[in-house]
Amino acid sequence: MHEDASEHEALLDALIAGKLPDERGRFGPFGGQYVPETLMTAVNRLSEGVRDVLPSADFRQRLEAELKTWVGRPTALTHAPRLGERWDADVWFKREDLAHTGAHKINNGIGQALLAQALGAKRVVAETGAGQHGVAAAAACARLGLPCVVYMGEVDVERQAPNVDRMGRLGAEVVAVTSGDRTLRAAIDEAIRDWVSDPEGTYYLIGSAIGPHPYPLLVRELQAVIGREARAQMLAAGGLPDAVFACVGGGSNAIGIFHAFLADRDIALFGIEAGGCGSALGQHSATIAAGRPGVLHGNYSMLLYDDDGQIQETHSVSAGLDYPGVGPEHSLLKLVGRVDYETASDAEALAALDECCEAEGILPALESAHALAGAKRWAANNPGRRILIGMSGRGDKDMPILSRYPRSEAGVDVAA
Ligand SMILES: *Cc1c(COP(=O)(O)O)cnc(C)c1O
Repeated sequence: MHEDASEHEALLDALIAGKLPDERGRFGPFGGQYVPETLMTAVNRLSEGVRDVLPSADFRQRLEAELKTWVGRPTALTHAPRLGERWDADVWFKREDLAHTGAHKINNGIGQALLAQALGAKRVVAETGAGQHGVAAAAACARLGLPCVVYMGEVDVERQAPNVDRMGRLGAEVVAVTSGDRTLRAAIDEAIRDWVSDPEGTYYLIGSAIGPHPYPLLVRELQAVIGREARAQMLAAGGLPDAVFACVGGGSNAIGIFHAFLADRDIALFGIEAGGCGSALGQHSATIAAGRPGVLHGNYSMLLYDDDGQIQETHSVSAGLDYPGVGPEHSLLKLVGRVDYETASDAEALAALDECCEAEGILPALESAHALAGAKRWAANNPGRRILIGMSGRGDKDMPILSRYPRSEAGVDVAA
C-alpha cells in the first residue's frame, strides 16, 4: 500500500515534469504502441515528426497564427453569475464553443494538418463518429489545400446527415464504413488501414487523445492551449479555481484543460463520463468509472468489454462521448488519484443543458452538458467554491436530438 502510494506520487511527478510518456510511449502502465509490424514505419515517421517538427520555431509560429486568425483564439473565459447564484458557486466557462467550427476539435485539426503538411503528406485521412472531428479535419485540410478523406461508420452517416453534408461542402470525401460495428470503432480501424497502405504519402489525423504513441502526446500538446489560456484568464479574473470540470469521451478536451492545472495540487480536477441511461454494460460510456484495462486502437488503457473480451457497444445521448475506450493519460491520472472520474446520466446532462440555456444564454453541446451536470452536483456538496468548466462545444449540432426531448424544468426548480 505504502509502496503503491510513493510509486504513484513518482509517476505524477514525472508526468508534471514532462517526462511522460516515456520513450516507449508509456504513461506508467498505460499507453504504448500495440500495433502490427506493418504499421511501425508509419508510427515511427510520425514520432520523428512530433519530436522534430512540433517544437520547431517555424511550426510554432504557423500554428499560433492559424489559432489566432482562423480558429479565433484565445477563446473567452465567461463568468456565469446567474448559474452561480442557483448553485451557490462562482462559476466560469472556458468557451471552446466559440472556436471555429464550434468545438475544441479544431485546435487538434489545424495542428495536425499543419504537421501533415510539414511532413510532406499528399493527403489526409481521418475518422469521425458524430462528425464533429470530421468537420474540423475537413475545414483544416481545406485551409491548407490538402485532400481529405473521412471514414465514418454507415450507422453514423445516417444518424448525422447534416455533418456529412458539411464535410462535403468543405471538400472532404466521406467514406461510409460497412464493416465491424459500422460506427466510430470501425471507422478508426478503416482509417488506420488506409494509413498503413501508404505511410509516406498519407497522414492519419486522429480525433482524440487515443491511438498508439505518439498520438495521445500529440493531441494533448495541441489541446493544452485550452488550459494554458484558461489558467492565465482565471488569474487575471481574480484567482485560480478550486475545481475544474470537463467531459471525457476519448479525453482530448479534458486533458487539454487539465494539463495546466496538474501541478496545482490543491485544485480538484473532475472528468465527467457519460452515464447514459443505466449502469449495465451497453447502457453507458463510462470507460474509466466502469471499465477494465485492455488494448484498443493501439494503446493499453481503460476499456469497456465483457467477460469474453468482446468490446462493448456504448450508449450516450451525446454522440461525442460514445466510445468504449479512453486516452491512456486519463487512465494514469485515475490510477495516481490526481483526477476524479464521475458520471452524469443522459437525463442529468439534458437538465444541465436547459439550465445553462436559461440562466446564461448559452446552448452547450450535449457532451459539455455532462461537465455542467458534474459541476452542479459537486457544488451542492461544496458551497461557495470557484469552479471552472470546460465548455467543449456548442449545442447547435444537437438540435435534431434535442427536439425529441421536452424542455426540462430542472433549472426552474433550483431557482425556486
Ligand atoms: C468530440 C467532442 C467531445 C468528446 O471528445 P474528447 O476527445 O473527449 O474531448 C466533447 N465535446 C464536444 C463538443 C465534442 O465535439
